[in-house]
Amino acid sequence: MSDLDFDALEGRYAEERERRLRSDGMAQYEPLAERFAALARDPHADPDFARDPLEEDCEVLIIGGGFAGLLAGARLREDGIDSIRVVEKGADFGGTWYWNRYPGAACDVEATIYLPMLEELGHIPTERYPRASEIHSYCGKIAERYDLRRAALFQTEARDLQWDPSRSRWIVRTDRGDQIAARFVVSCTGLLSNPKLPRIPGIETFAGHAFHTSRWDYGYTRGDETGGMTGLADKVVGIVGTGSTGVQVIPHLAASAQHLFVFQRTPASVEVRNNGPLDPASFAGRQPGWARERRDNFTTLTGGGYAPVDLVGDSWTDIIRGVMPRLENGAPVADPEALRRAELLKAEAVRQRVSAEVVDPATAEALKPWFHYFCKRPCFHDEYLASFNRPNVILVDTKGKGVERFTSAGAVVDGVEYPLDCLVLATGFDFLVDYCAEAGLDIVGPEGALADRWADGPLTLHGMQTHGFPNFFMMAIAQAGAAVNYVHTADEQTQTIAHIIAETRKRGAATIQPSRKAERAWVEEIVEGAKGRRAFLESCTPGYYSYEGRRERRALLNDFYAPGPMAYIELLRRWRQTGDMAGLELG
Ligand code: NDP
Repeated sequence: MSDLDFDALEGRYAEERERRLRSDGMAQYEPLAERFAALARDPHADPDFARDPLEEDCEVLIIGGGFAGLLAGARLREDGIDSIRVVEKGADFGGTWYWNRYPGAACDVEATIYLPMLEELGHIPTERYPRASEIHSYCGKIAERYDLRRAALFQTEARDLQWDPSRSRWIVRTDRGDQIAARFVVSCTGLLSNPKLPRIPGIETFAGHAFHTSRWDYGYTRGDETGGMTGLADKVVGIVGTGSTGVQVIPHLAASAQHLFVFQRTPASVEVRNNGPLDPASFAGRQPGWARERRDNFTTLTGGGYAPVDLVGDSWTDIIRGVMPRLENGAPVADPEALRRAELLKAEAVRQRVSAEVVDPATAEALKPWFHYFCKRPCFHDEYLASFNRPNVILVDTKGKGVERFTSAGAVVDGVEYPLDCLVLATGFDFLVDYCAEAGLDIVGPEGALADRWADGPLTLHGMQTHGFPNFFMMAIAQAGAAVNYVHTADEQTQTIAHIIAETRKRGAATIQPSRKAERAWVEEIVEGAKGRRAFLESCTPGYYSYEGRRERRALLNDFYAPGPMAYIELLRRWRQTGDMAGLELG
């Protein structure tokens, strides 16, 4: 690889980016609503479920029962709070792991650090990257351990939150007619939770069977998360989307479908997965705190920091070692040219892996990604590339343009129609577009609506609280630390929220909110720190990180704490330890 022409490589990146830029940016997508509302139906829930509306008071209302909501509930229980309500749209806890049950769904961060509370529950995952069902059932274990099931209102969506100043309570209304007065509200509505569809002309006319990956229709495909989809044995299947989801699901579709057409717009960067069983014995007898140490180590390394050892040692940490090399003494390499070359070489190794795995040279060429590392989240799989060696799998490379249109019979690319029986949409989720819209919440505080206050983007202290909305907390990553392992950030945030709620109660205050001054300082720090990252993303091939290549006003405000995810976590830890509630106003 020493003879690589680095300038030519960057030239190719720029060309490929140019090919993908489109004037409609984010507007190229639409939610699973209105004309596609039927596709949003929950395949796992009882459609006839009914119950009487509730009118009640509680101390803390948690919106969302994924990992963030579970962690919030667990930490509050640890602090002795009994009066908790959890409102959850699905029919069970699990969040992402409730909805995403497509074949091949598994975590992409090692489970020993992705799954929270392993030490508290005395649990060791079966594999490094276990399947969705194992993670979903672990969510249930947390709920049981912290007695959260009795708190849950499933198949229920919180819709509006109105502050009642006379009682210092949030009045929360749901789609089932409930009215819950809550002293504190913790909104844990998730990241990447609203599925989106591409507005491809004619998509609504497709007469075959279609579904989004987060609503997998096993009634049609048969089989389960391990594959074995006998319902597809005589079907021609098309899949749109080759991101993290597409990469996990395509090997299973390839194994089950009579024919599979993969409609590719941008090839994914696919690294080695190297999954394998975990031996519980190797974790026995470890010192208490091992899980935290392992997590901290991973977040430090993947956030670009230094640690003398690499405790997880997976493809994520290998990527960082490649892209951000260090000198023998651990100091970061400072030479910009050396860093540039290291990053380009790492991406070249990904392309060489494609050549090594895919037999047909033209298909291999089409599967090679041409963009900087971190323009998109890397994917990890050991069977994805080889799937394209199967005779029943055809890669339809749209050369950055995407599917041209749909007819009632199938997809059209470059004027050629591909008739399909079934269309799988692995086209992703909304990400940091508009907090209130994504959370599905209409939030009105004592001084007005959050949607108005945040019309240009979020304004927070530590990404978790906002002035003018007392006793309201958000679990989010905008203006917070963006760790590769989101659950790590979530765990520290929930500990902080539980700490604030406990202190507020202890001090006998009715309300707690950030001061304008502290909020302004935090927002300024975020915006200043975000400028470099945004400039990089604006040079990237489009994707959800870069608002599809469009300059969005809210992008800077939606950005993350620049010193890094571990620095953010350490900041929260210090803030809790100090115990003075700095930046908050008690009322
Ligand atoms: P992504 O947004 O990453 O991928 C969407 C895919 O759809 C892209 O390949 C995109 O192409 C393609 N696409 C969109 N519109 C069109 C079109 N008109 N024609 C052709 N292709 C189109 O969504 P994912 O669900 O894959 O992943 C989202 C995120 O969720 C991940 O980045 C990850 O953070 C998380 N995730 C994590 C998993 C895990 O931990 N195991 C598994 C799955 C998801 P293009 O690239 O050109 O835009």
